[in-house]
Amino acid sequence: MSPPVNAVPNSPELPESADAVVIGGGIIGVAAAYYLAKKGHSVALVEKGRVAGEQSSRNWGWCRQQNRDERELPLIIRSLELWGGLHEEIGADLGFRRKGLIYVTRDPAELAGWEAWLNMARQYQVHSRMLSAEEAQARTPGTDGGWIGGIESPTDGRGEPSMAAPALAGGALKLGVSIHQECAARGLETQGGRVSAVVTEKGTIRTSRVLCAGGAWSSMFCRRHGIDLPQAGVRSTVFATTEAPEVTPGGLSTPEFTLRRRLDGGYTVAIRNRGVLEITPQGLRYARNFWPMFRKQRTDGVSIRVGRSFLEGPEAVARWALDQVSPFERTRILDPAPEPGVVVEGMAALKKAYNGFETVKPARSWAGWIDFMPDAIPTISPIAKLPGLVLAAGFSGHGFGIGPAAGRLAADLVAGDAPFVDPHPFRYERLFDGTMGPVGPM
Ligand SMILES: Cc1cc2nc3c(=O)[nH]c(=O)nc-3n(C[C@H](O)[C@H](O)[C@H](O)COP(=O)(O)OP(=O)(O)OC[C@H]3O[C@@H](n4cnc5c(N)ncnc54)[C@H](O)[C@@H]3O)c2cc1C
Repeated sequence: MSPPVNAVPNSPELPESADAVVIGGGIIGVAAAYYLAKKGHSVALVEKGRVAGEQSSRNWGWCRQQNRDERELPLIIRSLELWGGLHEEIGADLGFRRKGLIYVTRDPAELAGWEAWLNMARQYQVHSRMLSAEEAQARTPGTDGGWIGGIESPTDGRGEPSMAAPALAGGALKLGVSIHQECAARGLETQGGRVSAVVTEKGTIRTSRVLCAGGAWSSMFCRRHGIDLPQAGVRSTVFATTEAPEVTPGGLSTPEFTLRRRLDGGYTVAIRNRGVLEITPQGLRYARNFWPMFRKQRTDGVSIRVGRSFLEGPEAVARWALDQVSPFERTRILDPAPEPGVVVEGMAALKKAYNGFETVKPARSWAGWIDFMPDAIPTISPIAKLPGLVLAAGFSGHGFGIGPAAGRLAADLVAGDAPFVDPHPFRYERLFDGTMGPVGPM
């Protein structure tokens, strides 16, 4: 079952040409289209399903600096600034509220990790602070978890995934971006080794600049053009509760559950580090690239299985000609099955933790296919092998919060402007030239 997501109107006609074409209507693609249009470029955005149909509506809605890899800190700091101003700028609510995030634990190693992170992050003037056992207890009224401490960031926020990308898409439409849903990009045409057009199922758009922001489908899209992109997916389950008493205004992460207060008075709930890694042809192809991540994560809650994704979806084997139906059209919206156990376990943990949750129920559950890079850091980069193509994918489970700034950075790279944040950590080449850093936190 898909989570609810606000509708975005389609533009009437596919343009014959555009200064730039954005492939993918997730938070990254719509933000990039919005900022490209703000720069004065004509932009077409093509989306195989609907805006925010995939990861961008299925996530927890955390917009956090806290516990984020240092390589992403400059980008998330700028992103939180953008989140704060976008409501007024585009005249629509993205659901963003700066209500703070709290993590609590009873594991000394975890607490030490958060302290080490805070020592590193102080140079970026983040507002996080460590919590003593008593403070952790006081910040989580109702729970009796035996916390030894925690970390909180009062200036981090939460957004509404059902609203954010659609609202940004609305802002992009007002600036003249043409948006085409149920319009898959099947591939690119080239001239003299450069991008010259995007071929979609509804026609061809001539352009010399393309952003591929196709989320989990980016590796498959790139492979068709001889571009290798090591990308892997993890299926992760989330559920929404019915309306419930306020136990935190923002986000709270405990070992048993994570929750985020929604604007409608319910919570979006999940279990941290819980997911299913499905064995797929693409996964086998890039197994070596992901070995360091696998070693780091495997003692946590990720289980491994073979499922339908071996034969269909973004990591299956696929070949298609540009005048044939492509795999992107066959799966308009990637809607993986949720794990019922996560809902049962998460709901039981909530009821155990909080008085007043006796009548609260899971209203809906869903899963999302989180697309990872081998170092858990996104790729936001021009592709030297195919001039005119920029890639923004692999946001590794934390691309929603960083979305506005990542889209803005991608727009700078597509336009050939000076990037507003140093793009070096996100360069494509690191994945192959031996300069990739350690696996970041997920
Ligand atoms: C369960 C879960 C929890 C998460 N929690 C958080 C969180 O709390 N905070 C956070 O910051 N991040 C979180 N994330 C991660 C975040 O949701 C993603 O990193 C972010 O949404 C990625 O955005 P995107 O635009 O790259 O991809 P997507 O939102 O997946 O969008 C890509 C789009 O491209 C389209 N597309 C693909 N190929 C084509 C094609 N050929 N033609 C046309 N369209 C195409 C797809 O249909 C899709 O709509 C979570 C993710 C999940 C799944």
